[in-house]
Amino acid sequence: NIVTRFAPSPTGCFHIGSARTALYAWLFARSNNGKFILRIEDTDSKRYKEGSTLGILRDLKWLGLNWDEGPYFQSAKFEYYKDIIQSMLKSGLAYKCYCTEVRLDLLRKKQLSSGEKPKYDRKCRIFLKDYKSDSRYVVRFCNPINGTVSFFDEIRGKISFKNEELDDVIIQRTNGLPTYNFCAAVDDRDMKITHVIRGEDHINNTPRQINLLEALGSKIPIYAHVSMILKKNGEKLSKRKKVIGISDYRLQGYLPESLLNYIVRLGWSNGNQEIFSIDDMIKLFTLKGINKSPSRFDINKLLWLNRFYIKSLPHNRIIEHLKYQFKKKSVNYLNGLNLSELIQLVGTRYSTLQDMVNFSHYFYKDHIIYNIDSAKKYLVKSSVVFLKSIYSRILSLETWTVEEILIAIRSLVSESNVDSNEVFMPIRVAITGDIISPSIHIVIYGIGKSRFLLRIESALS
Ligand code: GLU
Repeated sequence: NIVTRFAPSPTGCFHIGSARTALYAWLFARSNNGKFILRIEDTDSKRYKEGSTLGILRDLKWLGLNWDEGPYFQSAKFEYYKDIIQSMLKSGLAYKCYCTEVRLDLLRKKQLSSGEKPKYDRKCRIFLKDYKSDSRYVVRFCNPINGTVSFFDEIRGKISFKNEELDDVIIQRTNGLPTYNFCAAVDDRDMKITHVIRGEDHINNTPRQINLLEALGSKIPIYAHVSMILKKNGEKLSKRKKVIGISDYRLQGYLPESLLNYIVRLGWSNGNQEIFSIDDMIKLFTLKGINKSPSRFDINKLLWLNRFYIKSLPHNRIIEHLKYQFKKKSVNYLNGLNLSELIQLVGTRYSTLQDMVNFSHYFYKDHIIYNIDSAKKYLVKSSVVFLKSIYSRILSLETWTVEEILIAIRSLVSESNVDSNEVFMPIRVAITGDIISPSIHIVIYGIGKSRFLLRIESALS
């Protein structure tokens, strides 16, 4: 039975790169009827960022990446890890290292200057000595000295490391707390993880973790290291000054469907298919389909997908997210056109729900505020005739349909013998407050008859 995990460290915002790792691990579990575990790796209190865990949980839920077990917190298990370290010390799988920072620094410098790769020289492993009980020490793992560690990466093929190149990894710091490599190995063993899917920045940790897993008497999981994501100009995405989190995309009015579709294609493909529903992804996802080379972030593609999903998802799905956007802008969406009609009317025009709301507020307000410059330019004496004329034409309409309104507008334009914009702009400013909106007949329809008449009246007064 397949078991995967997503194991974020709560050290910052939940960004596209982490979301992709989570998605791949989730998809692999879902497409194999397996289990997806959420594990929070919060053992390093120095790098911990307040609120980060809550953000990760909220964003995973928003994306719909539900977990079958967890969240487990490593920080809740310090005593457990310590017990294991104690028994490793007893059985000779680990040792206390009393070397000072000063000594390690000197050693590192010496090795570097003679062209060697810096590595702990195992002094305390070789000269096991008794120290006073209050001396500061770390606990190191007795990494095998000879031989090689090999694993078959599902994305990259066979990867091997010589044991002589690997350090005796620290498993407990001087402050008594266990380290990432150790906790990850213990948890992968205990949770019976069959597939570790994570970023390629962990490739160097894998041989260390495999050695630890072997010492812990565990089966070795299958590994898949996912390549990184680059910006358009080739720089690492994670190196940008302000990392954009999944929650920023939510704020900007992207749908989870678009983000997931976008993210799944960042480094995974199925022929040249671009559109994937969640069900498609689950049906089609394989580790073999993941690309070895880095992928590039392209905001235009994300915008294109979001526009596609705004057009094609069922309205009730869009409405959930639209409500959030209206609330964010403090516009009461109950005071006007219902949201399903709004999507029907203007939904094809916008790439984000934020844009849609930014250009729809006038459907929902009792009083609009004019943009001063637009009003100065268009609400002038020469426009009065058009405003009066559209007023009476709309007043006399017996049915309220987009087509009827369009006919009324067309006849006004053809009778007035001027460029259509000369007619439209004053009307547009009078009923929306500004010069940018969808076609005028659509806006009139959406605003509704009585509100339309009121707005023209107040523009004329
Ligand atoms: N906690 C690690 C990180 O956030 C992931 C470790 C893993 O997946 O093994 O980078």
